[in-house]
Amino acid sequence: MFVWGYIDKEVPIAAEVSDKCPRCQVMTPHHLKCEYQIVHLYVWLRSVKSEKTIATCDRCGLRTELVGEKRGLIDRLPSGDPIPIFDRYGSNLLVLLVLALFIWFMVTIGA
Ligand SMILES: [Zn+2]
Repeated sequence: MFVWGYIDKEVPIAAEVSDKCPRCQVMTPHHLKCEYQIVHLYVWLRSVKSEKTIATCDRCGLRTELVGEKRGLIDRLPSGDPIPIFDRYGSNLLVLLVLALFIWFMVTIGA
């Protein structure tokens, strides 16, 4: 049953950065993508457990994870958070909304 578990996902980041490829030893364009893992409960309640940004060299295809100061490459991008808001926050807001409506309904009935 899919009551709870982990889901691995990835989303492309719509941007290219120029970085020195460890294999090519020159500055090459890199495509970026965000790989992340979410932990979910009943599919609806979910939150991001881990995330990392992978840069793939356009020339040789080497994948490197952006860590440390290299993360500055993506912090300057205007694209913002690549992780969809539903994965980032789950439907916690939806649950709260339904709960609020339910309480409002009960109070209205009781009045
Ligand atoms: Zn390369």
